[in-house]
Amino acid sequence: MAERLVVIGGDAGGMAAATQARRRRADMEIVALEKGRWTSYSACGIPYVVGGDVAFDDLVVRSPEEHRSRSNIDMRVQHEVMGIDLDARHVEVRDHEGDTTYRVGFDRLHLGLGAVPIRPELPGMEDAHVHGVQTLEDAAELLDDAERGALKRVVVVGAGYIGLEIAEAFVKRGCPSVTVVDRGPEVMGTLDPDMGAMVSQAMREEGIDVRSGTAVAGFEHGKLLTDGGDLDADLIVLGIGVLPNSALAADAGVAVGVKGAIKVDPRQRTSADGVTAAGDCCESFHLVSRQQVHVALGTVANKQARVAGINIGGGYATFPGVVGTAVTRLCSTEVGRTGLTEREATAAGFEYVVAKIESTTRAGYFPGTQRITVKMLAEKRSGRLLGAQIVGREGAAKRIDVMATALTAGMTAEEMTALDLSYAPPFSPVWDPVLVAARKATDLLDGPA
Ligand SMILES: Cc1cc2nc3c(=O)[nH]c(=O)nc-3n(C[C@H](O)[C@H](O)[C@H](O)COP(=O)(O)OP(=O)(O)OC[C@H]3O[C@@H](n4cnc5c(N)ncnc54)[C@H](O)[C@@H]3O)c2cc1C
Repeated sequence: MAERLVVIGGDAGGMAAATQARRRRADMEIVALEKGRWTSYSACGIPYVVGGDVAFDDLVVRSPEEHRSRSNIDMRVQHEVMGIDLDARHVEVRDHEGDTTYRVGFDRLHLGLGAVPIRPELPGMEDAHVHGVQTLEDAAELLDDAERGALKRVVVVGAGYIGLEIAEAFVKRGCPSVTVVDRGPEVMGTLDPDMGAMVSQAMREEGIDVRSGTAVAGFEHGKLLTDGGDLDADLIVLGIGVLPNSALAADAGVAVGVKGAIKVDPRQRTSADGVTAAGDCCESFHLVSRQQVHVALGTVANKQARVAGINIGGGYATFPGVVGTAVTRLCSTEVGRTGLTEREATAAGFEYVVAKIESTTRAGYFPGTQRITVKMLAEKRSGRLLGAQIVGREGAAKRIDVMATALTAGMTAEEMTALDLSYAPPFSPVWDPVLVAARKATDLLDGPA
């Protein structure tokens, strides 16, 4: 009998592993189980569907039929795994369409279970007007609301990147009142507050009412209750983060770690024999803090799943870890971050200098040049880059990738100043803003002349 791989989860963390395994093992039987209706979809595109930039159907990168016909994967949608028995080596599956329950045996099991959105236990939470923004079902409902055009007041709870992208979507839809509420001192808690303040300023310039330092107390029909007063809302969208969806694995005896995320080794193997995991359900190793972290990003999910799939297929691959790189956009303001913030660097025990510079995205004299602020942290004594944040206009955010590359390579600020980066007036000043920041960090590390 052919060896059977069972994959739980029909998105990046599951299906990128399944397709990699198939490339290496034509003989393997692969059964993939997804509780929802869609497979290999881009949740990242949801805000842009709601905002009207992208068509809903374009979010599905590979349909169940394509998985079957192109990769010979037995893809079963609306089939939810209810339990895993590691000793008996089978999973218990609920077929929601057929209304039946059955078992599938496995030789190897791969977990791409994703994350679950945090839903605070607050009065009125089950109110029909509180929407999540996680699944394509959520996207369809939000799109429906947005397209009806009758929304006068939208309140977004959570000022992380997803909250900001959803706020942008409703601004674009012409909603007259968009409010973002967050209990943190500034928007975007993944940035330092001084950089977050630049983002909240940009939000206000776009007409968004920013209520940071405001805690939600509950929900009522058409109202969000906060410690700073009640806010009327036709629609409340909740985007306050996610936790790993690991209960199924933990119940089966698979070891979990930080925030309950599934523990994996560099080959994406879990503590259980023949069981791998990838994506939002599992841990990552942070290459700068040298600690395990939970990072819920599509970039990481795809890479981890590729590694898992190669290993399942008999190859050898490792995922070394993350540096925490992310970008987002709020109307015309772009944001990028990588590595450690000041708070994270301090918590990890580093001493550092902070270089913060203002520059332009193109040569200062070139038409269309825009503002950009770059902040860089470098470790005292070693001079090693620890983290960077960027806020600016068009052309700003993707510069964070240079910083992420330097971080991954363990470069010092001084080494960065010598990087042979490109220049022509339409693209950057002769000293690119990331190099200006590196130069300033080097000066600070050298101390007074
Ligand atoms: C609005 C939004 C915007 C985002 N933007 C970005 C971005 O710009 N950049 C970026 O890098 N990342 C972004 N992300 C994060 C990115 O989408 C996730 O990191 C990525 O989807 C993780 O893939 P995954 O396969 O691990 O998890 P998921 O995509 O959550 O997939 C897990 C799948 O498992 C299924 N499942 C769970 N339990 C079971 C079960 N018991 N049985 C069967 N099936 C099950 C779920 O239904 C789901 O389809 C965004 C996320 C959201 C919600």
